[in-house]
Amino acid sequence: MLGGIEAGGTKMVCVVGCDPDHLLSQTSIPTTTPSETLSSIIAFFRDSQQHFEPLQAIGIAAFGPIDVNPLSADYGKIGLTPKRAWQGFNWVQALQEAFGLPVYVDTDVNGAALGEWKWGAAQNLDTFLYLTVGTGIGGGGMTHGNLLHGRFHPEMGHIRIPHDWQRDPFPGCCPYHGNCLEGLASGEALYQRWGQKAQFLPADHPAWELEAEYLALSLTNFIFTLSPQRILLGGGVMKHPGLLENIRQKTLHYCAGYLPYLADEIETLITIPQLGDLAGSCGALALAASGCGR
Ligand code: ZN
Repeated sequence: MLGGIEAGGTKMVCVVGCDPDHLLSQTSIPTTTPSETLSSIIAFFRDSQQHFEPLQAIGIAAFGPIDVNPLSADYGKIGLTPKRAWQGFNWVQALQEAFGLPVYVDTDVNGAALGEWKWGAAQNLDTFLYLTVGTGIGGGGMTHGNLLHGRFHPEMGHIRIPHDWQRDPFPGCCPYHGNCLEGLASGEALYQRWGQKAQFLPADHPAWELEAEYLALSLTNFIFTLSPQRILLGGGVMKHPGLLENIRQKTLHYCAGYLPYLADEIETLITIPQLGDLAGSCGALALAASGCGR
């Protein structure tokens, strides 16, 4: 039996089980201070162990920036997040102290990618991306069967894309870069630019044409850079009807016929995750199952 935590900025989704079809218990805990949130998480797993059987490992798919290198002394430690109370909090240390078990951590998007690879829309692939477009934008994935790490971890939401200031005078909302991808196309950017949350913007609002363009520009960069076999687009903003198809068509347009296979494969190349709202927490289970996922 394994434990999984999807550690998000507003809530922590905790699950116990071995895969998405066999979850024994789950709960959602508000993200407040580390000490308060952690004691609720520990209570949930202790209670689950009493009702079922002992946990063998715990995986965490966490908001970042976070140290995800198992060889680092700071493995599991959160960096300079805007959620200041969580700066310096170390997931691995805290949960190992509480349970004396192996604890594995990766980014929320790498966790979700691993879950989709094990049980969802990326099965049998070895090079793919998972991009979430929600309040922020984050990307993770695999190359050659290994989760993308590198010197730190990918921060695909912060790439630069062309920005036509005349058409879109909004300066962007990223506190670091202004008009990076996240600054222009995240749910927060939609809210700040248009004054309404994404779910309340009507289908014919010009917001959606611009949104599809920005996301298609970013996917074009990712396709040319990493040559993924699939790109999974998750997150709340992607729930808007028609957005996915618009992104596909615009990505084809920006790739401009350069990749001969693209037109025939666009629907399978750019698609949605299968695990839905369970992607993060089951991704955390997948991390627990496969060690650190490397
Ligand atoms: Zn940025």
